[in-house]
Order: sequence, then C-alpha cells, then structure tokens
Amino acid sequence: MLINGELVTGDGEKLSVVDPSTGAEIKQLAEASEEQLRAATAAASEAFETYSSTTPGERAALLLAIADTIEANQDELAELESLDVGKPWPSARDDEMPLTIDTYRFMAGAARTMTGSATGEYVESHTSMIRKDPVGPVASIAPWNYPLMMAAWKIAAPLAAGCTMVLKPSEITPLSTLRLAELLNEVLPKGVFNIVHGRGATIGDALINDPLMEAISITGSPATGMAAMRAASNQIRHVHLELGGKAPVIVFDDADIDAVAETIRYGSFFNAGQDCAQPTRVMVQVGLYDKLVAAVSDQVGQIKIGGPKEDGTEMGPIVSATQRDRVAGFVERARAAAEITVGGAQGAGDGFFYQPTVVANVDNDAEIATSEIFGPVVTLSRFTDAEEALMLANASRYGLASSVWTKDLSTAMKMTSRLRYGMTWVNTHGMPTAEMPWAAMKGSGTGSDMSVYALDAYTSVRHVMIAH
Ligand code: NAD
Repeated sequence: MLINGELVTGDGEKLSVVDPSTGAEIKQLAEASEEQLRAATAAASEAFETYSSTTPGERAALLLAIADTIEANQDELAELESLDVGKPWPSARDDEMPLTIDTYRFMAGAARTMTGSATGEYVESHTSMIRKDPVGPVASIAPWNYPLMMAAWKIAAPLAAGCTMVLKPSEITPLSTLRLAELLNEVLPKGVFNIVHGRGATIGDALINDPLMEAISITGSPATGMAAMRAASNQIRHVHLELGGKAPVIVFDDADIDAVAETIRYGSFFNAGQDCAQPTRVMVQVGLYDKLVAAVSDQVGQIKIGGPKEDGTEMGPIVSATQRDRVAGFVERARAAAEITVGGAQGAGDGFFYQPTVVANVDNDAEIATSEIFGPVVTLSRFTDAEEALMLANASRYGLASSVWTKDLSTAMKMTSRLRYGMTWVNTHGMPTAEMPWAAMKGSGTGSDMSVYALDAYTSVRHVMIAH
C-alpha cells in the first residue's frame, strides 16, 4: 500500500487473491489496519494544504508523468490485470491500456481549462468573480471489473482539480492497483495519493466515514452507493457515484441486423459481461424479432471461452465463484418462462467460467430483463412501437447506458431526446472516449466520469467580491 509516500504492507487481516481462470490462490495480502487507514487520510488531508495551491500547469505535468509511467510499464500492469480478473491476454493490454493512459493525458489538458463563468460588477463599486476550487481530500472506492481503468477514472479527475486522495481498490482484484502505488510513488508528491487495501465492510466503510475526507467517489454497486450516501449524510459531504446499469438496446424493424448481432457478440460478452454499460437488454420491434434472435444466437454461439493466455480466447471466466453463481441464479430462475437459445450453464474446469448465454422470449418485466446480471447473459424481448419502447426503457430503475438502432433519423432523434439515460448511442453501443462524459442518471448514480464534466465532482463553485 502507499501511505504518506511510504510503501507499506497491511497490518490487518490477510485476504486471499484468486486466479479466476483456475480457482487457485495467487497470493495473500493483508488489509490495512484502522491505524493505517487513519494515517492515509491524515496524509491526504495534510498534503491538500500544498497540493490544492499548485498551478494547473504543475498538475498537468504530474498527470502526463503518470501517463508516461503507466505506458512504460503497460505490459506488466496488463499482465497483472489479466491474471487477477481473468481477462483474455492481450485484450487486457490492447483494449484497456490505451483508454486508461489517455484518461490521464486528457485530464492533464482538462486541468488547464477550468474557468469561472462570470466576473463583473453586479453591485455598484463591487467586483464579483467566480472561482472553481478543489473540494478537499477525496475518499475513493473502485470496483473489480476494470481495476486499472476504473482507478484511472477515480485518480485523474481529482488530481487535475487539485484534490488529494485515498483510493481503495476492490479486495477481489487489488494486484494492478497496488503495483500502480509503487510506480506512482516515484511521480507524485508525498501524501497526495494514497492507496489502502481491504474489504468494503471494513476499510471501505472506515474510509467513507473518515471525518478528514471532504468528498466520496464510488464506482461500484448500488448497495455501495447507498452506503456512501448514508456516510455522506452523517457529515454533509460531496458524493459522486457511478453505479450499476441495465442497458436497453432498442432495435427497430429497419435496423441493420448484422451490425446489431456483431455488437452483441463483441460488446455484450467483452470482459465476460462484467461491465456497467454493456448492451444486455435487447428490445426488438416485433417485425424483426425472430430474425434477430437467430442472428444473435448464431454470433454468440461462436464465442470461444478459455483461459487468459489460451490462443483465440474471446471470453474469460467470471471474476469469482460468488459472482458466477449469482449469474447462474438469474438464468435458472428465468428458465421456466423463457427460451435459452445459447449457453445457460457453467463452463468446464475449476475456473469460474460461465457460457455466453442468450435468453429469448423474455417478458419485459421479468427479473432477468430488469435486474443487472453483470455477467455474460443477454435477453431478447419484444416491443411494438417507439412509445412502448420508451415507456419500457424509462421504467428501469437504472439510467446509465442505452442504444437505439434504426436508419430513420426522426426515430433516432425522438428516442435520444426522450430516453432517460446518461448515455445513448445510435447504431453503436458502449463506445467510450475521454472527451465525452460517462454519465449516470437515476439509480445509476450522480455526475460523470471522464470529460471536463468529471471535474465538477471535485470542485466547488465560490464567489469572491471586492469592494472598491
Ligand atoms: P461493489 O459495490 O461490491 O464493490 C465496489 C467497491 O466498493 C469495492 O472496492 C468494495 O470493497 C467497496 N465496498 C463495498 N461495500 C462497501 C461499503 N459498505 N463501504 C465502502 N466501500 C464498500 O461492486 P463490484 O461488485 O466491485 O462491481 C460491480 C458493480 O459496479 C456493478 O453494479 C457495476 O455496474 C458497477 N460498476 C459501475 C461502473 C460505472 O461506471 N457506472 C463501472 C464499473 C462497475
């Protein structure tokens, strides 16, 4: 772990880190003790006094140095990520590292764009100005699905804004982030960036409730988001949440069937379906329904599952036995009332594999169509017209990602203006770019990651008035 510029091992309970492709233990790592956590938050609080006064240019230089450091070590970091999460190699390096690195480079530029919106005389002989200043030390919690990339979203924006932080990676997948701690200790000033290891219920809970932390930033499940809001309400803190999703894929009769089916194959099953924005809830207009079920089943049936280093592996295991069993539970409960056209069973071996699965003839209000599964399962259901599709999609408690598939511009415009989701793609799905917000609505969270809008979570608007 990294606490106040020192690399330390935990004094707390030892936790097992497991290889999901074999089920074997990779390593035991001790979590932080309460004292170590307090030392980390105290370090972030003390460092805030100086780091918050650095110039945007100085912060940009640090972020560029982080990007260069990660780039120089990307093979090793991707190797750890692949081992810890079970991601196919070289997808861990070629698909995820570029956006991870670009997030820091983008935020280096964004740090220098922060401006107040108004300066002027709103009262005679008084000049007012708006400042956007760093909110304070941030308690930051990351999930297990893309440990390094989610860490980048958690680290780059607060550092750009002038905040210091304590980050806790997921206890299931800490390896790449703990290595990052070693690398970044060479780059960042003491205390600005601290990393602690531990479980959510122990160290995570202590971190978000620590009185020295002025903001809480979470990427994780809705339950953790609720815990963060409760913690914040005890002390009145800023909260930034990127939580779960259940992305509707709304396919109209005039859509390009092959494009949809290929997007499902390469999008829905990427990272073994463990992605908050993935296309998972395919809603198809009745005229195209049967053809799309056939096309999607054909594509998904070809996906090759295997270990991260096996030749041709498209999809690896689920991250843990618990998560694999949770996925299987959704499919088993749906079986009686739906049709499983592909998959629907565990994979072979001791690893936590689950077959890529397509569930058709699903009712729009069924559990499997409305709950986040976070695994390699897509559902297909029917709708008749745009109004019904909007009503069904907007009834979801989630509001993260969505997509609309049509060649008709007016249908696309109507749908994109009325869907209540932070992100809507037309004729594609899930394409991220550092310049654009990863934005949440409703039960999927508050605010955005990436883009200049991510800085809003880590800055406070201030008014300064000068009488003259
Ligand atoms: P999780 O909420 O179980 O764990 C996320 C992190 O929160 C972990 O570090 C965990 O230790 C910590 N945590 C758990 N309970 C806590 C508590 N009471 N107090 C403080 N910290 C606590 O989520 P997960 O299983 O790691 O990740 C899957 C979830 O994350 C899914 O719901 C997924 O949709 C969501 N997710 C969202 C985004 C996004 O950008 N919206 C991205 C990735 C994952």
